[in-house]
Amino acid sequence: MLKLDSPLTALRGVGPARAALLREAGCATVEQLLWCVPLRYEDRSSSTRIADLDQPGPVTLVGRLRKVRTIHLRGRRSMVRAELLDGSGSVPVVWFNRPYLARQVDAQAEYLLHGKLRSGRGGAVELLNPSCERTDRLQGQGRWTPVYSSLAPGLGPALVRDLVQRALPALEAAPVEQIGAAASDRAGADPLPSWLLEKYRLPTLRDSLAMLHRPPDDAPGEALNNRATPYHQRLIYGELLSLQLHLAARRRRAQVAKGHGYRSARDVAAVRRALPFRLTAAQARVVEEIQQDLRRRRPMRRLLQGDVGSGKTVVAALALAEALASGHQAAFMAPTELLAEQHYTVLRALLGDRWRIALLTGSTSEATALRRRLRHGKIDLAVGTHSLIQDSVDLPRLALAVIDEQHRFGVGQRQALVEKGMDCDLLVMTATPIPRSLALTTYGDLDISLLDEVPPGRLPVITELLPVSRRGKVLNRLRDGAQAGEQGYVVFPLIEESTTITAAALEKEGQAVRRALGEIPSAFLHGRMPVDQRLEVARAFAAGEVGILLATTVVEVGIDVANANWMVIESAERFGLAQLHQLRGRVGRGTRQARCIALHGRLSDEARRRLEIFAATTDGFEIAEADLALRGPGDLAGTRQAGVAVLRVADPVVDEGWLERAREDAARLMESGGEEVTALLMRFRPQQPARVR
Ligand code: ADP
Ligand code: MG
Repeated sequence: MLKLDSPLTALRGVGPARAALLREAGCATVEQLLWCVPLRYEDRSSSTRIADLDQPGPVTLVGRLRKVRTIHLRGRRSMVRAELLDGSGSVPVVWFNRPYLARQVDAQAEYLLHGKLRSGRGGAVELLNPSCERTDRLQGQGRWTPVYSSLAPGLGPALVRDLVQRALPALEAAPVEQIGAAASDRAGADPLPSWLLEKYRLPTLRDSLAMLHRPPDDAPGEALNNRATPYHQRLIYGELLSLQLHLAARRRRAQVAKGHGYRSARDVAAVRRALPFRLTAAQARVVEEIQQDLRRRRPMRRLLQGDVGSGKTVVAALALAEALASGHQAAFMAPTELLAEQHYTVLRALLGDRWRIALLTGSTSEATALRRRLRHGKIDLAVGTHSLIQDSVDLPRLALAVIDEQHRFGVGQRQALVEKGMDCDLLVMTATPIPRSLALTTYGDLDISLLDEVPPGRLPVITELLPVSRRGKVLNRLRDGAQAGEQGYVVFPLIEESTTITAAALEKEGQAVRRALGEIPSAFLHGRMPVDQRLEVARAFAAGEVGILLATTVVEVGIDVANANWMVIESAERFGLAQLHQLRGRVGRGTRQARCIALHGRLSDEARRRLEIFAATTDGFEIAEADLALRGPGDLAGTRQAGVAVLRVADPVVDEGWLERAREDAARLMESGGEEVTALLMRFRPQQPARVR
């Protein structure tokens, strides 16, 4: 008999090769396969007659395929064209990059196609990239056809559905309390205690999975397709609760570790007095929060979130001063050499009189000698790049690690730095604001400080979107500005011209820009230049010797030159929202009005939406929310990184209500110390692949 923990080879149609593919995709057992919940449902009872097609949009059609032919395009791309006929008429169908379709289509068979109707060549409509299945294979499956994501090449949606259907009997046969328990221990109850199920009137896990894989004909289509059925909600809530429990547990573990204890406040106050400006109220508040953390007898785990230009560096400097003043070692890690170098300069100016500071990057000469001094505690503060986390680097007295632009580092890298010390305090900083939904999931084990204020006297950057045909005019304005002593950046998505990507390249368009700038001193800056050259250019720009910097996104993070007030972004449609925002953040750091001009080529609908949002707001928080919404819930890299359960059904953005409930319930469960309940929930740890959308 098929059981939940049966290997997938127990299913008809799964041999060793397919089982290996499935395992690769995260499904080793029947139960794990059952956790692949359909992305959506197609209503077979409501197909449209071809003669009745009018509006562009999603449609379901049934008919025979004729005139199937493959057309080879540039590169290795191809296109399959065909015609779909039903009794009433015919409609062209196009598939991109699915050459195998042409071989598989059977002229005699009837097919169910579901896809988007769009206006094709010459205004006629065509069906684009539809799903395509023989209707005789769909017999007996009821009204709703569940559509799954493809698990791997060769494990397409239709096959996944067939396998899931074959796996369903295991679910029905299993005692309810087995489902969702860890494979190693199947004695527990349905992982959600009944009082929680009752509280939210949720169905059991078994019913939920069964219904989602085979909805009854009378299930409401809207709710099914919007993940709004109680069955969906059971899974969503269960996942989020489990995630929150993991995070709460992790937090608790951190709390039992002992902290270092920091004492001397005198030196810190002196550093603070010597600052060239007054802290903003937000900075003062965050500095206070950090000081309290550090004086507590448990390690700090704090995320400092502050929009570009909000002044995180000086907050970090004061935190570092706390550690140094207490005789500890500290480290400050940044994602690029350019940025590490800049921080080194700033920190030396602020802290260099009192403490020994060193810079360690991939291009540090005498690195061996430096590492020796670090090991022997002869350096108080190490500033650097990933070089800091090499095995050969020992920081025996490390008590505080600060990581700038932390989203550029993986979880493992952050951990590696922390583990150089004992019970090390950690401050991670990011300019990419984290929407609340992610703050509650990915970063749920960190305390969060917010810099919600920029230093006084700054004007919001004015953003203009212009087609690339206006480049000439824009460059004239840039030249005029530069003649009046202003500085700026022109950023390109590519270094070299590319045959496959249409976008401005530094080498070609960059030269043209340079010519247009005439006398204005300009310089190139990109990642393929030798590091010392790069640093020299950055220095010359900071010193005002170079007026305009023609660069790639190496300038994206952290570069701080207050006099720069022009940011021209070439082929802006090639950049993501977060990146655009970071780039724009390079200007508007002084008191002069700054402008960001996004030049763009032809825009897809999506790119247009992105740029419009970009132009409409300079609020990093709004941008981050919009970015998450645009990229869609499929992009949960953040959650995956957190090293906790991957969310497959839940979406922290859309399901924010459930997220809040789960967070509260998790806190209550942890609080009440209901060891039994907690232990039970901890076992509920999905081990599935992320959904592929
Ligand atoms: P970010 O948060 O983007 O890392 P930085 O730390 O680079 O921002 O700070 C941006 C600029 O603002 C720097 O030139 C810094 O010296 C300046 N700055 C920081 N805090 C203040 C303040 N309180 N008053 C005036 N200028 C400040
Ligand atoms: Mg910064």
